[in-house]
Amino acid sequence: MVRLLKRLVFICIILIVTPVIFFAITFFIVTSEPAPPNTSATLVTDVTQLNQIKVDAAIQPTSIEEISVLIKSHDGPISIGGARHSMGGQIATEKALHLDMRKYNKILLLDTLKKEIRVQTGITWRQIQEVIDRHNLSVQIMQTYANFTVGGSLSVNVHGRYIGHGPIIHSVKSISIILADGSLVEASPRQNADIFYGCIGGYGGLGVIVEATLQLTDNCKVERIDQHMTVDDYPNYFKTQIRNNESIIFHNADIYPNDYTDIHAVSYQKTEKPLTITDRLNPIDSNYKVERFAIWLVSEFPRGKWLRQHVGDPLFFSSDQVKWRNYEAGHDAAELEPTSRKNSTYVLQEYFVPIDRFQSFVPTMAAILNQHHVNMVNVSVRHAKKDSLSVLSWARSEVFCFVLYYKQGTSESEQQEVGVWTRKLIDAAISEKGSYYLPYQLHATKNQFERCYNRIGDFIQLKKRLDPTNKFRNKFWDKYNPSANLK
Ligand SMILES: Cc1cc2nc3c(=O)[nH]c(=O)nc-3n(C[C@H](O)[C@H](O)[C@H](O)COP(=O)(O)OP(=O)(O)OC[C@H]3O[C@@H](n4cnc5c(N)ncnc54)[C@H](O)[C@@H]3O)c2cc1C
Repeated sequence: MVRLLKRLVFICIILIVTPVIFFAITFFIVTSEPAPPNTSATLVTDVTQLNQIKVDAAIQPTSIEEISVLIKSHDGPISIGGARHSMGGQIATEKALHLDMRKYNKILLLDTLKKEIRVQTGITWRQIQEVIDRHNLSVQIMQTYANFTVGGSLSVNVHGRYIGHGPIIHSVKSISIILADGSLVEASPRQNADIFYGCIGGYGGLGVIVEATLQLTDNCKVERIDQHMTVDDYPNYFKTQIRNNESIIFHNADIYPNDYTDIHAVSYQKTEKPLTITDRLNPIDSNYKVERFAIWLVSEFPRGKWLRQHVGDPLFFSSDQVKWRNYEAGHDAAELEPTSRKNSTYVLQEYFVPIDRFQSFVPTMAAILNQHHVNMVNVSVRHAKKDSLSVLSWARSEVFCFVLYYKQGTSESEQQEVGVWTRKLIDAAISEKGSYYLPYQLHATKNQFERCYNRIGDFIQLKKRLDPTNKFRNKFWDKYNPSANLK
């Protein structure tokens, strides 16, 4: 009997200790520092490390004069890079002169009365926040993470989680661009409007955006509120509670994989309540061990997605949060970074559908993702107002944006498989009169691209006028410019 008891105790200890050791070792491996990015001067890569492109030279200019001379005197292809968070070769092409804008990052003017800022475009949101926060001002529209450059954000026409806004173009007062002949042009909705609406969202195809004047807004305290519901209930909730609610600053809703039937809506509304987080900005250089481990758990651990939905999220959202807007707007993309991207990598995709097509798109999307066993980490739904003016607009009507964050293998066959389901999702978005986002992998066919961006003809006419020898190139434009005519 005693022996039996001893054996039972021994088995219990093994059962308890083994998972603890397993978790501890995994936590250590998953959260150890990521490998440093490739720093070779001529190998340009992006955050996914799927697109390593050999350029002839990479230069970090620091003045308008330098950029102008470089462009004027270079006959071959020129590509432009910001913080390198696009994911499909949008920042380089073989044999290019690569302009790495990250050292061109000064604030040129801050008008606190008009709430406007003029910047050099290699500056990141975080660098801007560090200055404007002292004046209790905030960026009006930006992404969730603050690592991106202004130039990279304008050239993609990004959006964030802001309610009542849409693409960043709605907050841009003016830009200056250096064209293929080295000339400097000022563009705004009133001056050289065709250049303004072409360059914003133009993926570095028309010239280098060197300066931008952006509208700022007031910083304020925000309180987190959240609600769980079924996906079917979400559109009505959004229309009645969120869409016209002026107190809501940020809003997004996460659809839980792999059922894709439950959704968690998270908003931040203006408040006068006392702060629960008193830092004004996210601390720099955090190690993000918990965040990285959580993402690993969701993507790798059996039942990891269930654990997130039923244990992790309820725990994380159980406390009240009141913080500064600038704090919530200043996330660091390093929190997403895995230890290695060699065999697998995290990748983003995004689809846009008119808001009344939400309910028909979600089941189609879910069926495609599950049919292809996509290892989905998160599907985040955001909202964007219509942008009828930018030439390559992705919001031709008021849309819901479906941001897919998933893990994929890096082998050739795994990349091809991603291409197959990506094209199915693009077709699904097209059939709902929607579109897909361009800063990610280049899996769309030319036909899909042209159906989603139906003013590409206007863009190419503009490019022929401003850049007649097709100097401004990258992998994206090499694939989708119908008159690239590359030998
Ligand atoms: C973790 C993560 C989260 C993201 N979240 C969001 C989000 O919430 N909302 C959203 O809309 N997007 C989001 N994105 C996409 C991201 O906004 C874009 O990839 C954006 O372009 C990144 O900026 P960047 O400085 O890294 O640009 P890069 O990737 O360096 O460049 C992007 C494009 O801009 C061009 N470009 C860069 N600088 C200039 C310039 N000065 N003049 C002319 N062209 C230029 C480049 O040639 C390239 O075509 C996210 C991406 C990641 C990796």
